[in-house]
Parts: sequence; C-alpha cells; structure tokens
Amino acid sequence: MRRAGTVREVVREVPAADVGFDDPRVDAARPVSLELEVESLTDGVLVHGRLAVGWHGECRRCLAPIATTADVDVDELYQRQPTNPDAHRLEGDQLDLRTMVRDTLLLAVPDAPLCRPDCRGLCPRCGADLNEAPCGCGAADVDR
Ligand SMILES: [Zn+2]
Ligand SMILES: [Zn+2]
Repeated sequence: MRRAGTVREVVREVPAADVGFDDPRVDAARPVSLELEVESLTDGVLVHGRLAVGWHGECRRCLAPIATTADVDVDELYQRQPTNPDAHRLEGDQLDLRTMVRDTLLLAVPDAPLCRPDCRGLCPRCGADLNEAPCGCGAADVDR
C-alpha cells in the first residue's frame, strides 16, 4: 500500500469459520479459497481475482442434496476517500478483505439451487422423481 503500482498475490485457503459466514448453506468443513492480486493505486487498492466456497443445499425441484463449490470473479476497489460509488472504504493501514469475501461469496451461493440445469423435479401429483423415470400417473402429460 505504500507505493502505487505494487502488486501482491494473495493465494491461500482460509477456514470458512474465520470468514464468519452465518449461513447454513456454507460448508463450514471446507476452506474458502482466495486467489487474488492486490494492487496499490495512488488513491487506493485494487483487488481482483477469484474466490471459492463450498456449499450445500437441496435441489428446488427434486429435493436431492447438492454439495458443490461456488466460485466467483472479483474486481473490487478500496479507497481511503471513496470517489468511485462502487468503492469500499479503506480503514487504517490494513486491508481487511473479510467483509468483501463473505458478502461476495454469499451472493454466489444460489438461494434456490438446481441439482442440474435440466432437473425434471418431482411429479406434482404423485411425487415421483421424474429424473429417474416418467411416473405414469398422467400429470406430466398435462404439464407439457
Ligand atoms: Zn433436482
Ligand atoms: Zn405422477
């Protein structure tokens, strides 16, 4: 942060508990992965790279359990005196990425996930899992 143009790589895995997610979707047993480049500017710090977090949930259509990873590209600006409306305020001499990492990853975890994009879900009439086979109760015909 002392000299503009300095770039530092931040590549590490952090326990999810240290990031302080308060969300049952986040897999606390798996580390959060950070692959970031931190570049100092004359009036702030630019952080860009990739974040990833393990999460689990339930398919919104067929209710199958899902356990996977969400990753997201980040491109964030920190400024001591924010002039850019999207900039985070830089406090003190230490860059604290925790809030950005937490908020960014929580947005990347889907609220209503699907086990796969073309999940057929459960039959609304008989409850059969239509990914396994057509249920034959006739409701599917009305649907399509
Ligand atoms: Zn599904
Ligand atoms: Zn059915």
